[in-house]
Amino acid sequence: MVNVQESPKVKREVLEVSSEIMSEAGQFLRRNGFIEILPVIISPITDPLNHSVLDASINYYDGQYSLTKSMIFHKQLAVRVFPKIFTFSPNIRLETEDKKSTGRHLIEFTQLDLEVKDAKRDDILTLVENLFVEVFKDLDKKFGKIIRSTNPHFSIPKIPFERVRYLEALEKYGSDFEAILSKQATEPFWLIDIPIEEREFYDRLDGDGKVLADMDLIYPYGFGEAISGGEREHEYEKILYRMSLKGNDQKSLKWYLDEVKKGIPPSAGCGIGIERLTRFVCNLRHVSEARLFAKVPGSLSI
Ligand code: ASP
Ligand code: MG
Repeated sequence: MVNVQESPKVKREVLEVSSEIMSEAGQFLRRNGFIEILPVIISPITDPLNHSVLDASINYYDGQYSLTKSMIFHKQLAVRVFPKIFTFSPNIRLETEDKKSTGRHLIEFTQLDLEVKDAKRDDILTLVENLFVEVFKDLDKKFGKIIRSTNPHFSIPKIPFERVRYLEALEKYGSDFEAILSKQATEPFWLIDIPIEEREFYDRLDGDGKVLADMDLIYPYGFGEAISGGEREHEYEKILYRMSLKGNDQKSLKWYLDEVKKGIPPSAGCGIGIERLTRFVCNLRHVSEARLFAKVPGSLSI
């Protein structure tokens, strides 16, 4: 039987910090030419993800909608209309119970999801670094004293963040490299050039055919993954090839493939986990303390 969990107590200051993060990040993006679009909650297409989660689809007449796992495909389509977009996207990923103690997983969470037409990975790295600096400066000004009372490490991140190649880190530290490096670090750093088998089909395959033009951002002090993103595949044939390598079912992504056939532009972007960022800033044990009505893997709560 499923475990029914009481929602954790969430501190008022944490909610204020989270609200300020969303406000300042949104303002930063608007100042940089972005517009905010509305999130998509249900669609016949959603992110297939690179790991399996429990099914979250609903029947509607003769068809089926999926709850959004990420808005990746909608972002690629949105930049046909406007070149720089962002949205605060609620994502549902019905993770299994083994993820409940990672500190980083909720089955409902929010990404600040952004995408830029014709951008390269480096453009996104620089954009996000500047966004972090602006957001942290603003937090320092408005909540610095309160944040430091529970997070002695709070500081404005130094840019540019270090870029660590995935395969080099793997060779040096073994399969647990991400956790090891995150614990050692005192500044956020980028993990770049992630191997093809570790990611979904939509991030662009780079020159040598083994690694992708993509990245994760990793928080220091053991807080782990913050962001995923990259340059995207946008050519129909390449997308089909990548889907076949992954074994992704073409039928379930037909709506997407039809749009790709009509033409989508090259783009790059990323998704920034809001609860994870709040957790990192406030030095919280678990992301469930970073929002109201948090849903922890493996249990039910309001
Ligand atoms: N697909 C990423 C995720 O949701 C976000 C992105 O690549 O923009 O993990
Ligand atoms: Mg990720």
